[in-house]
Amino acid sequence: MDIQKLAHSIRKIPDYPKPGILFYDITTMIGNDEVFSELIEFLATRYKDREIDFVAGIESRGFIFGAALAYALGVGFVPIRKKGKLPSTTASEKYSLEYGFDEVEIHIDAFERKKNARVVLIDDLIATGGTAQAGVKLIKTLGAQCVEAVFILHLRELGGKAKLEELCDVHCVLDI
Ligand code: AMP
Repeated sequence: MDIQKLAHSIRKIPDYPKPGILFYDITTMIGNDEVFSELIEFLATRYKDREIDFVAGIESRGFIFGAALAYALGVGFVPIRKKGKLPSTTASEKYSLEYGFDEVEIHIDAFERKKNARVVLIDDLIATGGTAQAGVKLIKTLGAQCVEAVFILHLRELGGKAKLEELCDVHCVLDI
């Protein structure tokens, strides 16, 4: 995969959603047919021989990459959503934000089709790693294993990857 082309396809928006934040906008990447399909091919090649049973994606940008990857691997997709969005019985996990906390949930029967399911967790970006840590914990709570957590972008200075590596293997396509 052409890493330079992938990096250049992501639009950077200063001071969004608030002053001081540089927002990495992946809409320009997923809107680029060549880049998006090369990325999904790259990820599918990485996981195709690792006996993956499910791809789990974190709301909402993780759904875009996760659903495409699950389809490419021929496995099911499991959504990890913000609190209150999933309609059936859930397990939930809180995580800290800069101020206060947030919570993500998963359906408790999400991996029921496979015992000891092997799962790849995906999101667009890892910053502090709080969201991803909560996602990995949910996968483990359900008795499944997180084979790897994968991100398109890693914001190095926030240290989230090292913290997540205490819970599972981590792969980041681009380090910024
Ligand atoms: P964190 O829990 O701090 O690792 O934050 C990761 C989540 O927040 C991901 O779902 C990202 O989509 C989003 N996010 C955090 N920082 C940024 C950023 N600078 N640009 C775009 N999305 C971000």
